[in-house]
Amino acid sequence: MLLPIIAVLIGVAVAPLTASEVANDAKVIANTLDLDDLKIRITPLQGSDNPSPLLVKYTSSACTIYVNNGATAHAVWNRFLSDADGEYAAALRDFAVAHEIGHCVVARLRSEAVEMPPLLGTAGAVLPVGSVTSGAVSSAFTGDETARGISIKNYDEIASDLIGLHFIRIAHPTAFDPVRNRVREVRAQLAAKDPMHDSSGYLAERNLASIAKLVERFE
Ligand SMILES: [Zn+2]
Repeated sequence: MLLPIIAVLIGVAVAPLTASEVANDAKVIANTLDLDDLKIRITPLQGSDNPSPLLVKYTSSACTIYVNNGATAHAVWNRFLSDADGEYAAALRDFAVAHEIGHCVVARLRSEAVEMPPLLGTAGAVLPVGSVTSGAVSSAFTGDETARGISIKNYDEIASDLIGLHFIRIAHPTAFDPVRNRVREVRAQLAAKDPMHDSSGYLAERNLASIAKLVERFE
């Protein structure tokens, strides 16, 4: 029995994401959170060396999710899922799709001039675009314009993670804690290289409650 031993040694590779799988997930997420009006489209991406397994392009009227199965992106996906299986693996995948949809939700609400809540974290508050004026920026990212740019993008990434977790709590309640822990862990691991995606200090209940209220304002 050589094959199983090799599989254990190299780690079990997870199946690549497919566009139809992501389309099904997106339909359930939009339905559950009452976001059908977003008109989400799913497009496979061929031959990309972008490391992100899922990418999103959004305007106030369109939300396109790209499914990227390039070698680098698949390796990243493998690492994110680690050895997850069953309900937990399904919940991690749903989280990733809901995160991308979260970007579209934030963009739409902003275009409707809905006021975004500040997000309070261990490194200070990250404020929404529009409030990032007059020096009232995150204590984590005070300083020059580059840092300010990270702070603005950081808000969107944190908000999208929170929208993803909000969906997981509704759709996969038993997987909520493990998914939140995994997201916190992965974001913290990559924080030095990728500060704008670092939501690790901001996934507490009070922010989840603010974001749940915000999602309800979607029309
Ligand atoms: Zn994102």
